[in-house]
Amino acid sequence: MSAPAQPATASNPSELNLPIYMDNQATTPLDPRVLEAMMPWLTTKFGNAASRSHSFGWEAEAAVDHARQQVATLIGASPKEIVFTSGATESDNLALKGIAEAYRERGNHIITQVTEHKAVLDTCHRLEKSGCRITYLPVNSAGLINVEDLRSAIDETTILVTIMAANNEIGVIQPITEIGQLCRERNVFFHSDAVQAAGKIPLDVNAMSIDALSLSAHKLYGPKGVGALYVRRRNPKVEIAEQINGGGHERGMRSGTLNVPGIVGFGQACEIAAQEMASEAERLRRLRDRLRERLKSALDQVRVNGSLEHRLPGNLNMSFAGVEGEALLMGLSDVALSTGSACTSAALEPSYVLRALGLGDEIAYSSLRFGLGRFNTEAEIDYTADRLIEVVQNLRELSPTYEAAK
Ligand SMILES: *Cc1c(COP(=O)(O)O)cnc(C)c1O
Repeated sequence: MSAPAQPATASNPSELNLPIYMDNQATTPLDPRVLEAMMPWLTTKFGNAASRSHSFGWEAEAAVDHARQQVATLIGASPKEIVFTSGATESDNLALKGIAEAYRERGNHIITQVTEHKAVLDTCHRLEKSGCRITYLPVNSAGLINVEDLRSAIDETTILVTIMAANNEIGVIQPITEIGQLCRERNVFFHSDAVQAAGKIPLDVNAMSIDALSLSAHKLYGPKGVGALYVRRRNPKVEIAEQINGGGHERGMRSGTLNVPGIVGFGQACEIAAQEMASEAERLRRLRDRLRERLKSALDQVRVNGSLEHRLPGNLNMSFAGVEGEALLMGLSDVALSTGSACTSAALEPSYVLRALGLGDEIAYSSLRFGLGRFNTEAEIDYTADRLIEVVQNLRELSPTYEAAK
């Protein structure tokens, strides 16, 4: 068996391996330390964590228990409050549908906001079809909701508020503590999709009065196909109507044989994130600011989308007037980035997140998302900046819209 490929690390910054991966809000590479923790559970230790009659089952169960503790610790929860799932899409579905169903007698109103991930928005659309009323709060030009808007939206029928901790396109961090306090005062449950925030900024479900919280392993250097839903057990206890029936795993909230290797990797990823969060955040913020400064000083008519102050350290979203993001990516083929548009069934559509900030289609189409992560180096930042400046300048020479923007 060959050794896993080592990503470039901060210790060998001069080495530049192409292509460069800078799309860490879409997914992150597996940390080699996480793979190492997973290996035994993919090979010799293959037991079913629900097998009660032999050591194969017992050791798998013990490994899952350990991982449950590691995940819980990252968000200040207790291990019994962690329900393992197949990922955050499932966690978001379980939280929203599970709470809507369990509290149908109490009310049918749910409040969310317009820049949520599709896993939340599409679940809300589905719940509307089955009799829920959903309020979609707007965001301001910085991408933030107004807590006063939330206060006025809550009424006697409101059962749940679901607001993400940090956005996946623009990295903007919502005022989670204030939202949690307000929900607690008004006796409304608070769910947060914390996929992008977890392991990147400190989270504490008690200090932030969060009642349910979604996590995904592959956004924090763990494996794909595993996630968790935190479900508060006391003050107040949250009931969740299960959405998958079967063997009664995960205290009945999510049946199905546990993904032991995935869960072990997820736990290890959370432990590493907790240990390295502060230093990694500082390093990423410095790299992010370096990239932004270099682009801003070399190019005019560029803008940062979303608040810079309330933002994940590794995220930068910028528009380059007069050039289309897709054209930029074609000219920058050895750097993996995302544009401010999404390919839907028929056509390229501008990002609904950027539109919600008040950006016109033109400027939304001209934006790029830089997702910096654990394995990006300063040399990669400099290479990306140099190449991008060149490509933008070349494209702008041919661009009538750039002349107009000036
Ligand atoms: C990636 C992502 C999800 C979906 O997570 P999966 O584990 O891939 O299903 C949900 N919410 C946000 C904010 C995300 O970034």
